[in-house]
Amino acid sequence: MADTEATPKGTVPDNANEHCPGPESEAAGKAEGCEGCPNQEICASQAAGPDPDLPLVAERLRHVRHRLLVLSGKGGVGKSTFTGQLAFALADDEETEVGVVDIDICGPSLPQIMGCTGEEMHRSSNGWSPVYVRDNLSLVSIGFMLPSDDAAVIWRGPKKNGMIKQFLKDVDWGGSADGGRMDYLLVDTPPGTSDEHLSIVQMLKGSITGAVIITTPQEVALQDVRKEIDFCRKAGVPILGLVENMSGFVCPSCHGESRIFYPTTGGAQALCDELGLLLLGSIPLDPRIGKACDFGSSFLDTCADSPAAQAYAGIISRIKKIVEQ
Ligand code: ADP
Repeated sequence: MADTEATPKGTVPDNANEHCPGPESEAAGKAEGCEGCPNQEICASQAAGPDPDLPLVAERLRHVRHRLLVLSGKGGVGKSTFTGQLAFALADDEETEVGVVDIDICGPSLPQIMGCTGEEMHRSSNGWSPVYVRDNLSLVSIGFMLPSDDAAVIWRGPKKNGMIKQFLKDVDWGGSADGGRMDYLLVDTPPGTSDEHLSIVQMLKGSITGAVIITTPQEVALQDVRKEIDFCRKAGVPILGLVENMSGFVCPSCHGESRIFYPTTGGAQALCDELGLLLLGSIPLDPRIGKACDFGSSFLDTCADSPAAQAYAGIISRIKKIVEQ
């Protein structure tokens, strides 16, 4: 029988039974209580104490000031869009160095959103070079490594875990070797609380500045956000706040406002009030956001005066303020 006393705080799946030995236990993935657990495979592959590569990851990212996770409960709520626009906006200040890691291994959309499809990551003596979108904005994504845009990545947890580790440990983020600094490392995650989330939290152990959680106003999205919040709390990831995306729509012809995704239970604000979290802001639906993503351009630059761009700008300045405190 596994020693339940050894269960560390966090990173234990919601549906783990009471005999879960914890992911850092020698019995992780092998104990009786691991049978049927969705994370059994990843835990088994990492069993026997802390990962010896963790100090190498820490060393590689030593010069990174703020590490932000962008999370969502559901897919399609605008998480990658938000990550891309946040990255562009932060990098608008030429003095700010921004790196983005796309760990949505099975659905990498940031190369498209950030306008750098078809690029490749090259290897040098210092490791993999990220793709530079601007001089001060770089991106790492499995999307750069696929043989074609249509190629599916069909990987189990341990392989995804290995890739994420490479992204952190083997990428030359510029400045890491010569005492330079990176101001923001943004991590775009897949929806939910799965292998990729477990991996990134374990690898950035204790050094995550905070998570931004994206949702739509609908209860069906908020239900999954509750699980995301629970994950963050169990894993010890501070939550900077929630962003309500696709929050209302102003018709460009008649200027009438409609609630396309209706906040039947009060939307993200009610959830934040209930759980003591900050609503960083609400972004309306704007078809030009989709266009900007398809063209790989910054929506805040192309439609700066739109209510959606202003909402984005407000949220981004709130995030900057919180992390700079
Ligand atoms: P996720 O990363 O959560 O799966 P995406 O960022 O890929 O979601 O966004 C899903 C779709 O919604 C994309 O087509 C994107 O262009 C679009 N989108 C995101 N936010 C908005 C918005 N505020 N208004 C209109 N379209 C949006």
